[in-house]
Amino acid sequence: MNKKIAVIKGDGIGPEIVTEAMKVLDSVAEKYGHSFEYDQLLMGGCSIDANGVPLTDETIERCKSADAVLMGSIGGDTTTSPWYKLPPELRPEAGLLKIRKSLGLFANLRPSVLYPQLAGACPLKEEISAKGFDMLIMRELTGGLYFGEHKTEEVDGVMTAVDTLRYDENEIRRIAVKAFEVAMKRSRKVTSVDKANVLDSSRLWRRVVTEVSESYPEVELEHMLVDNCAMQLVKDPAQFDVMVTENMFGDILSDEASMITGSIGMLASASMNETKFGLYEPSGGSAPDIAGQNKANPIATILSAAMMLRYSFDMSEEADAVENAVNKALNSGYRTGDIMSEGMKTVSCSEMGSLIAQAID
Ligand code: NAD
Repeated sequence: MNKKIAVIKGDGIGPEIVTEAMKVLDSVAEKYGHSFEYDQLLMGGCSIDANGVPLTDETIERCKSADAVLMGSIGGDTTTSPWYKLPPELRPEAGLLKIRKSLGLFANLRPSVLYPQLAGACPLKEEISAKGFDMLIMRELTGGLYFGEHKTEEVDGVMTAVDTLRYDENEIRRIAVKAFEVAMKRSRKVTSVDKANVLDSSRLWRRVVTEVSESYPEVELEHMLVDNCAMQLVKDPAQFDVMVTENMFGDILSDEASMITGSIGMLASASMNETKFGLYEPSGGSAPDIAGQNKANPIATILSAAMMLRYSFDMSEEADAVENAVNKALNSGYRTGDIMSEGMKTVSCSEMGSLIAQAID
């Protein structure tokens, strides 16, 4: 299969970690007879330096003409970098918001996996972490409280602020469909999280998700209230497969779920639109403190590339091969500095990428 991938390496550790993900993709292409063509594009601080803006319209158009986007991270040291002396709309992060909006990316997918080899980094009790977990949180990204009407005004002499939580059935339906489609490629369980005992938006959410579930009889659906879900995540994270929820609940729960893995360098993510198109990037930032030192952990970006294979290219076998290769490198005791523990072998970013690329079979 031929696929065109728009590649945005970005700033800080971005170029280092994306180079390793491309190394792994090249190995997949060679072993499985595919051809991946890369269109390398600028975004963030490097685009400000080259073009005066964090994201050009040309970059957006070239992303749209690709089959998927692979991204590193953007931004610099927010206290010392000259990029942060610019007005907010010209700073590196403005590029992130613009690209998500321009590409219509409404579903954010964040897997949270506890690798048995890294269980020591998990802050939960051993009896809980021993079971391991492998869940994927799907957060609605373009609606809800963050995009509703906001106003602050004086009412009868008292300062009053209002934020509006609004969803229509189409917004809920499209993310519910995405959640069930993704669950079909995983363990076929969807937990829909809401606050239906209090909020109208949640009651509509629950009704529409239930309707959508009727088209996916192979997938088990459960509904869970968000307060209970926050507790269940630390009590028994192994119960979850795909969790789908609205914007603000997802913002909070996905951070909670990533914390319990204990390691930012391992966290992949994807943002998708209604088609198979997606933007794939690690959850972490540009890590200016270790940039240019060949120390960063490339695994989150490599696992994001595996998600691209699975969800945008329908290459499940190839995605499994990448995930297995990551496991092999960890099983052989190789660790970058951020996941190092006693008795293991420290490797650089590029060594980790090569080890994983070689382990593809
Ligand atoms: P950060 O995620 O860059 O770094 C936090 C800590 O985690 C640092 O100690 C860093 O060294 C470490 N870390 C992150 N990724 C790592 C990896 N792959 N391997 C090893 N260690 C890793 O967060 P920050 O310091 O708050 O932000 C730095 C810059 O990144 C800022 O400009 C911020 O705006 C930007 N940022 C960008 C994105 C994105 O591109 N989507 C996301 C978050 C932050």
